[in-house]
Amino acid sequence: MNACQKSTVSCFACCGIANLQTDAGMSSILQERTQEFHALHMDENLFRGYRLQREEKESKIPRHNPEIYVCPFLGYIEPGRPGCLIHPARTGKADSQNYSFYGASICLNYDCRAKEAEESLDAASEGSAQSQTYSAEPGSMPSNNAAMKHARAGSNDARAPVYSDFLEATLPDQYHRLICDSALYSLLETIPGFPASVCRDAQKSKLLGRLLSLRLKERASRRITSFERLMVRAYDAAAAASELFPSSREEALQQILELKTL
Ligand code: SF4
Ligand code: SF4
Repeated sequence: MNACQKSTVSCFACCGIANLQTDAGMSSILQERTQEFHALHMDENLFRGYRLQREEKESKIPRHNPEIYVCPFLGYIEPGRPGCLIHPARTGKADSQNYSFYGASICLNYDCRAKEAEESLDAASEGSAQSQTYSAEPGSMPSNNAAMKHARAGSNDARAPVYSDFLEATLPDQYHRLICDSALYSLLETIPGFPASVCRDAQKSKLLGRLLSLRLKERASRRITSFERLMVRAYDAAAAASELFPSSREEALQQILELKTL
């Protein structure tokens, strides 16, 4: 399990569907794609045709950003769980995502900011376990030791990841909108000890929940956010609040400052 596929929820933001401005809703598009894809019976000879036909059909739907691609291979991999219909775990072929516009190497290796950070924490946890095993062998620790120590300090202990767990537990219906929000994540990372210091603290996690609900009310958080970056310095809380929370700037700023000082 990683930030993309959790036990009870999944994220699919970077596959593009959030770029569609549709009244029909995401689930009806995913359902339609899934049914059409199932009719191919996993015949790879038909994958390209499916893609072209779906791209054509969906080209009429307005997009938040015309530059960002919407991949029609995102569907339901099980009831209620969106995911990649041509993922190697389903096809048994390492390169099956080459039928997509991005290609397998991008599909398999892209990490949004939160996922990347959680994988560092995972590596730190593994490094921590290994360091005990390897303590009698100088030089056997991984070379990026400093980065791992830094990540481990943020995790408080080896039970990473924490932010995706927190979102899964507290805001499951909005998981896909929050985990991928890279600009928001950059701001959260300026809170000392984030994510463990916040997600595992009753008072701070309540403040975080409030901050996240403010972000969800912003129209900008409805479109694809995994590719977006803060256009101001993340440590400048006032400027970051203006950018991320234009309709509730003062309240959001107060929550951020409290989270930083508690
Ligand atoms: S935005 Fe991040 S968590 Fe979501 S599917 Fe992409 S890599 Fe995974
Ligand atoms: S092929 Fe790539 S972009 Fe398309 S749904 Fe799968 S992982 Fe996402």
